[in-house]
Amino acid sequence: MVTLGGMARVLLVEDDAAIRVSLGKALTAAGHVVAAVGSGAAGVAGVARDRPEVVLLDLGLPDLDGRDVLAMVRSVSDVPVIVATARDDDASVVKLLDAGADDYVIKPFSSAQIDARIRAVLRRLGADQQGDPTVDVGPLKIDPRSREVTLDGAPVDLTRKEFDLLLALSRRPGAVVSKRELLAEVWGLPWGGGDRTVDVHLSWLRRKLGETAAAPRFLHSVRGVGVKLAAPEV
Ligand code: CA
Repeated sequence: MVTLGGMARVLLVEDDAAIRVSLGKALTAAGHVVAAVGSGAAGVAGVARDRPEVVLLDLGLPDLDGRDVLAMVRSVSDVPVIVATARDDDASVVKLLDAGADDYVIKPFSSAQIDARIRAVLRRLGADQQGDPTVDVGPLKIDPRSREVTLDGAPVDLTRKEFDLLLALSRRPGAVVSKRELLAEVWGLPWGGGDRTVDVHLSWLRRKLGETAAAPRFLHSVRGVGVKLAAPEV
């Protein structure tokens, strides 16, 4: 699904024609195949129609709020979305990541920055698809290739980020992994703050695994340190 060599089919959603044209040219020159649209509605339609591998979404669009566009894209596709935002405060970035963005860039940005983010997103996806064998954590089985999870043989329906989080933890079974490491590994963030993003996804994951923070089975939080994945004691 992901093009080899770090090139991707990119859908650019940007209403500023000058940025759209110059960024489209630069990304094409970097080897990507770029489709560009100028509105949120066209962006959602483009995701459904063109099946891009990466979406670069400007949040300031004339027809729809960028966050609504993100939600609409998420309702039809797991495609990685990099949002371009003019706001860089922690709270709004956390909101975006919780809403399903994979990465973000702060405006103004360079085309080289965007290209680097696109390649990072593809590398993270590619690493998953190269497929380690299935990971067993007691009755919990995680298949990185098909991205399927079963618990006691029954499928568990996870979102992409919930799966990525579980997979990241499963790669270090029994070890306490810090939230900072998880932010870097799952969200690609070399960035302070945002522990809440991990907490929110952990709580969703817990619910789907039928446990709570107070009565954990698989996901054990170690206060002030991080979280570890371990099989329930029999
Ligand atoms: Ca704009």
